[in-house]
Order: sequence, then C-alpha cells, then structure tokens
Amino acid sequence: MIDFRSDTVTKPTKQMLEAMLQAKVGDDVFGEDPTVNELEEYAANLFGIQAALFCPSGTMTNQIAIKVHTQPGDEIICDNLSHIYQYEGGGIAVNSACSVKLINGNYGKINAKQVAENINNINDVHKPISKLLSLENTSNRGGGSCYHFDDFIAIKEVCTQNNLMLHLDGARLFNAIIYKNESAKQYGKVFNSISICLSKGLGAPIGSLLLGDKNFILKARRVRKVFGGGMRQAGIIAAAGLYALQNNIQRLSTDHHHAQLIATALRQKSFVTNILPVETNIIIFEVAEKYTAKELIATLYKNNILAFAIAENQIRLVLHLGITTEMVEETIQLIQKL
Ligand SMILES: *Cc1c(COP(=O)(O)O)cnc(C)c1O
Repeated sequence: MIDFRSDTVTKPTKQMLEAMLQAKVGDDVFGEDPTVNELEEYAANLFGIQAALFCPSGTMTNQIAIKVHTQPGDEIICDNLSHIYQYEGGGIAVNSACSVKLINGNYGKINAKQVAENINNINDVHKPISKLLSLENTSNRGGGSCYHFDDFIAIKEVCTQNNLMLHLDGARLFNAIIYKNESAKQYGKVFNSISICLSKGLGAPIGSLLLGDKNFILKARRVRKVFGGGMRQAGIIAAAGLYALQNNIQRLSTDHHHAQLIATALRQKSFVTNILPVETNIIIFEVAEKYTAKELIATLYKNNILAFAIAENQIRLVLHLGITTEMVEETIQLIQKL
C-alpha cells in the first residue's frame, strides 16, 4: 500500500532502530536518562533556546504549554483551523479551563492586525484576559502553508505591547524551515514556547519536544508529570528522535518536491475543482463531477493507495519518508487514468 493518509504513518528505518538499540537509558523522571538529556540539549541548542522537554505526543506538548502560560478563565487567541482547537479533544477547556478567541485567517495563518483587533481590553471586567497567542507553522488544515517570517516579527511586536505570550505549534516546523530556507534559531528568538513533532515527517515512531526558557520548562516538567507523561527509560525512543533531528531534516525537501509532482497531475483532472496552494508536504484538494471524496478514496484504495477524506468533497494527501519516488510515479500514472 502507498499510504498518503498522514506523515504519522512512518516507521523507523534500520539505521534508526540501530540507534535505538544502542541507546543508553536511565530513569527520566529522575532526570537520569542520558539519551533523553542529550536529545533535549540537542534540540535546545538547535533553536538557541535554554531548555527542552521530551513528551509522548504533540498534543501533550501543546497542552502543557497552554497550561503553563495561562490561568483558568484566561483567553487564548488562535486561528479557527488550529490543531489546538480542532483536534485536541477540547483539551484547552479540560486541562486549562480557558476560553478561545478564534480568528479566520488565510489558510490557517493570522496577521498582526487581526491579533491586535482580538485582544480584550484588560480594564473591561466583562472580558476574559487575553493571555496567549498560539500560531501553527506549517498549518495542517491550511494545506501545509507557511508564514512569512516578517509576519512573526510584526505579531511578536503586538504580543510584547499587550503582555501576550506567544506559542508555536510547530508539529511540522521543519517543513516550513526547509521550504522557506530559514533557521531554527530565528524561531528561538521570537517565540516564548515551541512544540515540535519528531513522529511526523522526521520519521521517529514516537515523541515531541517542548522548548522554552529554563523557568518555563521547569514548570512544564511538573505539568507533564500531572498529565501522566513522565516516562522512565525513555532513552530508547529519544534515540529515535535524536536520529531524526540529526538525519531527516534536509530530506523533507524531497517530500515537498513529490507533493508538487502529484499536485501538477491533479490539476490536469476536470474532477479536481480546487487545490489549496501546495507549499510543503500536504495536498488538500476538492473533487466534483465524477467523484465524491468517499468514491475517489475507494477507487484509490482498489489501486493500493490510501488517502483520507477530510470533508464530503475534500481529500488530503501527505508526503513523507515512507513514500519513494517510484511510489509517486505510480500514483501519478493512476491519477492520469482516472
Ligand atoms: C499532529 C499534530 C499535532 C500533534 O499531534 P500528536 O498526534 O498528538 O503528536 C499538533 N499540531 C499539529 C498541527 C499537528 O499536525
């Protein structure tokens, strides 16, 4: 099967498994797992940030960040398509008892003016206190779209003026960094906290990292324990994450190239009515005429291709390291025949 459902379906390669076998381990709740410590230090250095925390999932790193930055009753500002709002099981309400101000952005991206317009007047007792702005780069439901870095600078200015903390859900941040030719250190200078996933395009089986200053990570470590995310000999999975950061970032450009090739093939088809701008490893397109999304998914399935229908007429394809150039060519040949 050629599996385009998500970049979370990647399985560890032989070399990654070898790194896991070699990992030195200890009890990470005691702070004694050398491989976890090495991974956290490596990631912190990569971003030029003081500290990092290894967690089981990106949902947990986002939820911990929200919990640390807020008090019950505060408000979080984010785009309407954000993962933290759409896909984390209402965790903002459950874990942090905060309300959310949703902004309708541009393919999941919001601008400084929209942020400024949505900050509540701190002197108005009717309104929750605007405490945290959370951005997503790349935007998953925005079709893998990337911010221009200048927008972050402008947004940061608004945050500084209004005592807003700035969090980045960077589940696919390295896709954006490669596409825009940026560096992780640029991000480290702007955001109060950053969450990155090791288990998406980077190809590790498990794991996410939360980055921030020492004081923030100290509080985050406590919240991680409360959420049940304190792990013991976690070095065995941290080794996979370290391998991913050291070996699998540059190759993301291959996934982006593959996405462009498939998008070009899709644009030739009359039943494809709209494709969101393809920048990184995600293709979201709409179908009409011949196919509903469900029917097209079934046709693809009969031809050994797996994809997700994300709405009645919308399909998402995600490229990742498990998809070879040969698989992409096979997919394009099938699309041409449809
Ligand atoms: C996948 C993803 C996450 C975290 O997902 P987990 O499955 O919990 O690791 C967070 N944000 C975005 C945008 C994602 O795509």
